[in-house]
Amino acid sequence: MVDLVGQYAGIKEEINNSFNEVLENAAFINGPQVHAFQKELEEYLAVKHVIPCANGTDALQIAMMGLGLKPGDEVITADFTFAATVEVIALLQLTPVLVDVDPVSFNIDIEAIKKAITPKTKAIVPVHLFGQTADMDAIMTIAKEHNLYVIEDNAQGIGANYTHADGSKSKTGTIGHVSSTSFFPSKNLGCYGDGGAIFTNDDALAHTIRGIVNHGMYERYHHDVVGVNSRLDSLQAAVLRAKLPHLDTYNAKRLASAKKYTERLQNHPNIITPSLNGDDDSHVFHQYTLVIKDANRDEIVKFLNAEGIPCGVYYPIPLHLQKAYRDARYKEEDFTVTNRLAKEVISLPMHTELEEEQINYISEKILQFLDS
Ligand SMILES: *Cc1c(COP(=O)(O)O)cnc(C)c1O
Repeated sequence: MVDLVGQYAGIKEEINNSFNEVLENAAFINGPQVHAFQKELEEYLAVKHVIPCANGTDALQIAMMGLGLKPGDEVITADFTFAATVEVIALLQLTPVLVDVDPVSFNIDIEAIKKAITPKTKAIVPVHLFGQTADMDAIMTIAKEHNLYVIEDNAQGIGANYTHADGSKSKTGTIGHVSSTSFFPSKNLGCYGDGGAIFTNDDALAHTIRGIVNHGMYERYHHDVVGVNSRLDSLQAAVLRAKLPHLDTYNAKRLASAKKYTERLQNHPNIITPSLNGDDDSHVFHQYTLVIKDANRDEIVKFLNAEGIPCGVYYPIPLHLQKAYRDARYKEEDFTVTNRLAKEVISLPMHTELEEEQINYISEKILQFLDS
């Protein structure tokens, strides 16, 4: 699905030099690379504060802790996402309220958010799923009307640009009150282990969060709040510093590959290719995900695997049907889109090293299966 070995080969010297700097000064925790990466990412995103942490799941949890959400507060998020999004809501004893997604963008459905709001609702967590921007203007308008926080889960969307109604653009993760991202190796900006970060333009919130990631300390050995230990290692920051200057090129390569897949697959009656709802830069194609109509998706997966082609199903079970997140209040008729997508989606290999020949081969095999 990804080719991290091939990608490393292209930037080997930069990575090795950056890594060696850490080895030479041995500041493995909170070394100068961490601070430097933080500043460089703040500049890239045009956001006031980046707070590095240990992974994307921590980032979401810490963002929610920073906002002071309390047990029983309801947090609305998408039914069709990676489990981490809902997991941290439940872990903090907040009440997850899962809602359906849009059938075209796969992102949280705006009307479903409106329907789910109650007096207990405190926050909305949109996910820029598969790298495509969620409808942030609409979400921010709802949030303002109901006095809610917006926490962007930007684990799959780093580098994407959201175009506002007035034509101006913002990077995903800089529009809501606070956002989280992941530097898991296969993410669009991935390190060589675990890593994550929180972004915000709110000075006071950034200060609170900087304490939370460090055991609730604002002054050494004074623990003002209950915090966690969540750090980005210096070695991971060194990798990320070397990779950040390539992020736009990498995302452009993904987009170009996505367009090639779409050209080859879009006219087949059993295939719906992914939408590009905004400008080209509104989707960074963390995943290239097809919807398969009137054909057996699981048989296609088996066929491709037998042909030596990796593929993935993100995500095979809607979160509201997962044992850990079932809730008697959910009604099946409110999840028609996620229930269907779980059976119909398939994600194809998508990474920075994908060659046109590979795209041709994979596309031909899919068409061959569907036409056989
Ligand atoms: C990867 C991912 C996360 C979690 O990131 P980790 O670094 O693996 O903890 C959270 N949300 C979404 C949507 C993700 O894709």
